Amino acid sequence: MNAERAAGVVADAMDDREDDRLGGLRIGVDMDGVLSDFIAGWMALYARDFGRHLEVADVTSWDGMHELTHFRSMGEFWAWARGGGESVFRHLPPMPGAMACMERLAVEHRVVILSSKSDWAIPDSLAWLSEHRVPAREVHFLWRKSAVSCDVYLDDAPHHLRELRAARPDAVVCRRVHPWNDPLPGVVDIESWPRFEAVVARVARERSVAIG
Ligand SMILES: [Mg+2]
Repeated sequence: MNAERAAGVVADAMDDREDDRLGGLRIGVDMDGVLSDFIAGWMALYARDFGRHLEVADVTSWDGMHELTHFRSMGEFWAWARGGGESVFRHLPPMPGAMACMERLAVEHRVVILSSKSDWAIPDSLAWLSEHRVPAREVHFLWRKSAVSCDVYLDDAPHHLRELRAARPDAVVCRRVHPWNDPLPGVVDIESWPRFEAVVARVARERSVAIG
């Protein structure tokens, strides 16, 4: 390798390091119910397939969605949601304001996607992130979200919020408020993406003051 090429390699490595934005916060973001409107999405497909319109506001429990449908169990619900080709996860609308906020957060921070998904849902979830141009530097599909270290977490599932709060005492854990979750001690309530952005800005300020 000549000196010119060697210098190019070094320059590329430097660029990569600068692009990693290690100075910002690690923002761990859930997908369904946070980035994507899972309930509105499956209800639209349900109306298409079965001609029956359901109301998003009627979903008030974490694992009782099938009770609004003709399905007799969540197993039957998921069998339909999986479909024969593309699954429901390919066709979800984004939550209002989510994508613009992701773009703004990614300028200073590291967006880390943390989503609990069965294997069959992963290709459609990756396609969804790509279609909506989510600037995630990391994407994790996992069941125990605290396995990935973040400074701030945003989720809507009661069991994930409890697990994150217990296992990551130094992190700021945020609940995306929905009728199917309840306030938890030590967890910050988030009603909108602008509110989440404000919380991240506050945490960034506090951390930079603490670091000096
Ligand atoms: Mg969720």
